Amino acid sequence: MSDVKVENPLHGARLKPVRKGKKPPKLLAIVHQSGCTGCEVCIAGCPVDSIELVPGPDPKNPAYQQMVEIDLARCIGCQNCSQDCPWETITMYQHDDAFTAWGNETLSSSLYIDQEEKKEDENKEADQAV
Ligand code: SF4
Ligand code: SF4
Repeated sequence: MSDVKVENPLHGARLKPVRKGKKPPKLLAIVHQSGCTGCEVCIAGCPVDSIELVPGPDPKNPAYQQMVEIDLARCIGCQNCSQDCPWETITMYQHDDAFTAWGNETLSSSLYIDQEEKKEDENKEADQAV
């Protein structure tokens, strides 16, 4: 796997409203996915709808072993999710530390993909368009 992650252009989150304001938030929320049960409690309290489900490994039963991840491009750092999670598995990080924490704590993501994977998807689309 390449270390370079890019936004997955095909994820539905890319159609949601972008974060307002010029300055990035001081804090960003990171899910420690190894402790996430996929209970979805945090999703209900997010004011900007920036918490996304990551389907479990079985495509026939995606709700089994699902987790969540946070769209760092849209999180406003309000801390609701870190306070609401019954398993205390969301931590707020200083903005600049959050991306390293994301790399350490994220087991599976559908919001961000390997740069190489994105190129392969683009090539497939180009082939299909011919
Ligand atoms: S900190 Fe606030 S904005 Fe960010 S994911 Fe949690 S609830 Fe949503
Ligand atoms: S509330 Fe906590 S355990 Fe439940 S889905 Fe959110 S991060 Fe995972």
